[in-house]
Amino acid sequence: MAGAQQNTGRLQGKVALLTGAASGIGKATALRFAEEGAKVALSDIEPEKGAALVAEMTAAGHDAFYQDLDVTNPQEWQQVVDAVSHRWGKLDILVNSAGIGRAKGLLDMTYDFWQNTMRINMDGTFLGTQAAVDRMKDGDGGSIINISSVLGISGMTNLTAYCASKGAVRLFSKAAAIECAEKGYKVRVNSVHPGYIETPMVMRRFDKIATNDREAEETRLKQSHPLGRLGKATEIADMILYLASDEAAFVTGAEFVIDGGYLAR
Ligand code: NAP
Repeated sequence: MAGAQQNTGRLQGKVALLTGAASGIGKATALRFAEEGAKVALSDIEPEKGAALVAEMTAAGHDAFYQDLDVTNPQEWQQVVDAVSHRWGKLDILVNSAGIGRAKGLLDMTYDFWQNTMRINMDGTFLGTQAAVDRMKDGDGGSIINISSVLGISGMTNLTAYCASKGAVRLFSKAAAIECAEKGYKVRVNSVHPGYIETPMVMRRFDKIATNDREAEETRLKQSHPLGRLGKATEIADMILYLASDEAAFVTGAEFVIDGGYLAR
């Protein structure tokens, strides 16, 4: 049946922590992980949405909890990682999905705006990776999946801060992967590069456009992908699931583009 997901226990017994898990790609991934048998810790700065998602997952028989985590806060990272260890005794998977994608022209951008984008998208990924590697390195190892973007590989007008932050996530992931491997930590680190995906982040962009221009912008954005549509969060979740699972045991330091052909042109 088209689109149906089969639970084959690909993450059975594994413990996962996700950031930005109350919305979009993080939410779709949390649900997919749970379907595949993982215990899932959800974190975000959206407690109501997080609680609603946990209620949905618990009702479906999954083991999950939510804790607030502003990814720019090192203390909160420690608290969340401690909470995961306290509850389940280990951490196998971290998905750094929290992010912002605000547009601003190069000459209109304040230094604050620039720093805020870098802090959430880049520093948040660094802090999470550091906290998780520290926890994973002495056990059975683990898998860290950092969500970059096609805009971490190619540039775009009015998105210099976003592109810079996502390009940094891409190379940070490769360097961290090499360091973990060379130091014998058994932690794999990879980056995922989605094209434009139908999530609140992208829908908010349309909301700002006057109704009569909205359709044209939506068409333009769809046509920037050779497949002629935007992606679905579940399509990104499936790639993240692969990287989180033992099927990807020989995969580290690599970048995975899921973009309907956006970068192929
Ligand atoms: P989303 O639906 O907006 O979800 C992102 C979540 O992160 C939101 O719940 C957001 O909360 C949260 N967040 C923002 N700042 C945070 C912080 N400081 N600490 C913790 N959480 C924070 O976006 P998405 O589309 O799923 O994006 C997920 C990731 O994919 C992002 O890194 C994004 O850059 C990347 N990505 C997305 C696309 C796309 O087309 N959607 C394409 C390429 C890459 P608020 O809602 O309160 O801000």
